[in-house]
Amino acid sequence: MAAGMQNFVYLVGDRDTGECMVVDPAWDIAGIVEAAQRDDMRITGALVTHYHPDHVGGSMFGFDIEGLADLVGRCSCKAHVHQAEAEGVRAVTGVSKSDLVEHVSGDKVKVGGIEIELLHTPGHTPGSQCFRVAGLTHGEEEALLAGDTLFLQGCGRVDLPGGNAEEMFRTLTQRLADLPGDTLLLPGHAYGGERAPLAQVRQKNPTLQITNLQQFVKRMGG
Ligand SMILES: [Zn+2]
Ligand SMILES: [Zn+2]
Repeated sequence: MAAGMQNFVYLVGDRDTGECMVVDPAWDIAGIVEAAQRDDMRITGALVTHYHPDHVGGSMFGFDIEGLADLVGRCSCKAHVHQAEAEGVRAVTGVSKSDLVEHVSGDKVKVGGIEIELLHTPGHTPGSQCFRVAGLTHGEEEALLAGDTLFLQGCGRVDLPGGNAEEMFRTLTQRLADLPGDTLLLPGHAYGGERAPLAQVRQKNPTLQITNLQQFVKRMGG
């Protein structure tokens, strides 16, 4: 099922200090912890893009998906969520209020020497957020971990509970519009590709070609 959903789980960390954080811990928590250990890294926290079970665990289509609750237990660490998403994350995963650190847009979280900026990008859910990371090891200047806000092809659905087409339009055309084109997009699912610079996504992603709100709402529903 994880393969069918084409979800990505990311580890973002600092080799010098050996610390890392998991972006959207779900599906196979033991596997995530082992992957970090194999890489000589220690998990010091989780970063949550939004509260859907394929990103934080919980129950979906009758399946129980491991997730955030297992991770914060194993690593005795906290999860960083947008304040508008905290209640949803608690309801879906069963973690307690003290397991969460609630944020607003523009907040920064440090992992070793690496600074991660949290950008509130509502539309797919009310408290969806993207993570902007500088100084990665793939040679790119910056990366944007976008969850279900933006994929290489298309954007997240807005017709699910909490979805809002107008907010998504503002997110795509305003909130994410100023990010540099050489920022590497790392989406939450491999829909239409695994990674690409934003400049390329802006050219090729059909959803980003729509510049009119009414047209966008008509196309997306919700
Ligand atoms: Zn989602
Ligand atoms: Zn998803």
